[in-house]
Amino acid sequence: MSELKLKDLYDGFRDPATIRMLSAQIGEAAKALHEPLRIMEVCGGHTHTIMKYGLPQLLPDNIDFIHGPGCPVCIMPKERIDHAIALARMDDTILVTLGDMIRVPGSQSSLAVERAAGRDIRPLYTPMDALKIAKEHPDKRVIFFAIGFETTTPMTAALLHAAIAQKVTNLYFHINHVLVPPAIDAIMSDGRAKINAFIGPSHVSVITGAKIYAPLPEKYGTPVVVCGFEPVDVMQGILMAVRQQAEGRAELEIEYSRSVTMEGNVKAQQLIDTYLRARSHFRWRGIGDIPDSALELKPEFAHLDAEKVFAEVLPTEPIDDHKLCICGTILKGLAKPMECKVFGTACTPNTPLGSCMVSSEGACNAYYRYAGVLG
Ligand code: SF4
Ligand code: SF4
Repeated sequence: MSELKLKDLYDGFRDPATIRMLSAQIGEAAKALHEPLRIMEVCGGHTHTIMKYGLPQLLPDNIDFIHGPGCPVCIMPKERIDHAIALARMDDTILVTLGDMIRVPGSQSSLAVERAAGRDIRPLYTPMDALKIAKEHPDKRVIFFAIGFETTTPMTAALLHAAIAQKVTNLYFHINHVLVPPAIDAIMSDGRAKINAFIGPSHVSVITGAKIYAPLPEKYGTPVVVCGFEPVDVMQGILMAVRQQAEGRAELEIEYSRSVTMEGNVKAQQLIDTYLRARSHFRWRGIGDIPDSALELKPEFAHLDAEKVFAEVLPTEPIDDHKLCICGTILKGLAKPMECKVFGTACTPNTPLGSCMVSSEGACNAYYRYAGVLG
């Protein structure tokens, strides 16, 4: 028997014939819509699938995508990037973090610039590497700048658990984990975005369960479909949302039943609850303060909390975005990247003015890469 390759597993979920068939079914179902379907894909991962596979071109005119605030890099306010920079500038310190965070500009600098200037800043492949670095450098303070939605939070909780169990005392945590449902709630209660359906990211719900979206259909009358990231998943999820709207239903449904349940990963949820709790508020870049929309360390772990231990070096003032950048308006579902005056000119992935262009998950970045801007 020949060896199974990863490609064999996802090929079916990218199959052009299946995508075309779903496109036809969506077109048929959409004829029964009473109003246009304005569907928010909350997660930047979905935005990339939508743009990369040209899904908008496969949908009828009465279906439009609105891009959501689902990228932890895009929504990180400048003052918290300044925190990371201030921490990295301390003597005898190694700052470690994940993803594109290193490239995102703060108010005056970025972690990339600081690293080039000689600060010890290291990207991590997995949070557990922070523990290894802390053990290898007992004479240094290692600070983990933790980012991500519900998907990556269990890894931070597991790192906390391991550091405490192994009595590693030189590892500190700057927690920036944010939560999807309060952000959706903030956008919907604002009322301007006119969204009437959602597709939610499957990986968040693998951890939390689909149940986190349960209040939305009832509160706002919007269907929510938890979807996988392959193009067939997204098209299937759209079809489910269209059918709900056309039949006058607003329900929570799971497209990605391969791994998502209503309850999610209860063990991961318990691990998170052991160490972290909801913050009273968190300022989302471009959106503003959203109550209970992020996590922080529980008070009993204050000795590991970089925000408390190194409070004296951390700036406290909120800092707004570049005045030409409309990332906030995009994240609120009120504009598309091309409506930004500097999109593709002053602002490109190589010269990003805002986080939606820096982050490889960002909406501006996806439009730039896949919407023909590159020629
Ligand atoms: S980090 Fe996860 S939830 Fe956020 S945009 Fe990327 S894939 Fe989506
Ligand atoms: S194109 Fe650049 S400046 Fe404009 S909204 Fe996007 S990130 Fe901001």
